[in-house]
Amino acid sequence: MGETQRTAIITGGGRGIGAEVARKLAEDGMNIAIFDLDQAGLDSIGAELKAKGHNVLTISADVSNEESVAAAVQRVADELGAPTVVVNNAGIIRDNLLFKMSVSDWDLVMGVHLRGAFLVSREAQKHMVQAKWGRIINLSSTSALGNRGQANYAAAKAGMQGFTKTLALELGRYGVTANAIAPGFIETEMTAATAERLGLSFEDFVAASAAKIPVQRTGKPADIANAVSFFASENSGFVSGQVLYVAGGPKA
Ligand code: NAP
Repeated sequence: MGETQRTAIITGGGRGIGAEVARKLAEDGMNIAIFDLDQAGLDSIGAELKAKGHNVLTISADVSNEESVAAAVQRVADELGAPTVVVNNAGIIRDNLLFKMSVSDWDLVMGVHLRGAFLVSREAQKHMVQAKWGRIINLSSTSALGNRGQANYAAAKAGMQGFTKTLALELGRYGVTANAIAPGFIETEMTAATAERLGLSFEDFVAASAAKIPVQRTGKPADIANAVSFFASENSGFVSGQVLYVAGGPKA
């Protein structure tokens, strides 16, 4: 629907959930810009999408760095088109029980999730306000409800929800929606790292997790990409400030 070709920025799109979001939004017809630190991941997803005929720009950028973000967003506007869709997906974990958590692990997690989402959204909103249309989609997590060993990550992911609702209030008058997706267990390198920390094989960790999930399976990146596609679509303009748990069962 509509003739306007949208341009989407996906942060942390070099692998995992972000890479799948890039594939999905490309299939939806958008130009795709991917920011990531991991050059090998960028090269791989960039080549894959180009081979399928999509317009794609991959940029090595640290979302927690103000200059890096400003330069990257400007490059997208110059080379692909005004970025009016942003998916704040870049993320890291630095898990530890509170008494063992270092200040640097606290700061790193806040820096990527919260500062990163703030910086990318602040740069991109100029283009959205000018276009009088925009979609901001932030990755929260079921950990926002509290998760042992993740005081930093849980605080950041709860923070993403407050950030999202505030953007919805501020930017709604410009045709911009902001929504958050809170995934449960999704099979990626992030959950593989958690299994390793717990001393479990990934297969055992997946099986044990699936048994506790109402739909009796763990999530795949495509489960999240599908939700992103809904929030990003032209027809979702009346859905804003929401947090959608995509976790195979109810969470609140
Ligand atoms: P992932 O496989 O670890 O991918 C995250 C990507 O973000 C990596 O490519 C990483 O690059 C990149 N990144 C990290 N720091 C960055 C920075 N400062 N600037 C730019 N890129 C950066 O994780 P995932 O499982 O796909 O998770 C994606 C998002 O979903 C995250 O926000 C995560 O918190 C959230 N989430 C995941 C789950 C799950 O079960 N997997 C559940 C709930 C929420 P490097 O490798 O170079 O660091």
